[in-house]
Amino acid sequence: MENEFFAGFIRLHILYHASEEPIFGLGILRELRRHGYELSPGTLYPLLHRMEERNLLKSEKELVAGKIRRVYTITELGRQRLLVAREKVRELFGELFSQEALVSPEKKREERNLDES
Ligand SMILES: [Zn+2]
Repeated sequence: MENEFFAGFIRLHILYHASEEPIFGLGILRELRRHGYELSPGTLYPLLHRMEERNLLKSEKELVAGKIRRVYTITELGRQRLLVAREKVRELFGELFSQEALVSPEKKREERNLDES
């Protein structure tokens, strides 16, 4: 993963989508690509498996067009974790997208000087 923060975002995406409807590997892979996360099945499947081991997701096998597909839904614990994470994201979002955010200290100083002159 090219960015150290993406791992957490990806987990949140997965939890969120699993809270909306049952998800399956290929579908979530496409959804993550749509968001610009290029994951290989070799990364995603172990991740789904670990999230199930941690009781955030539960899975069952489903027969779709003659093929067995593993379908994941969120657990009660997963839902709790998602709600808590959502509040944290809201807080972070507020800071990151506040007016002053991402303006370098030098820029702020320049603007302050302009105001004074
Ligand atoms: Zn998404």
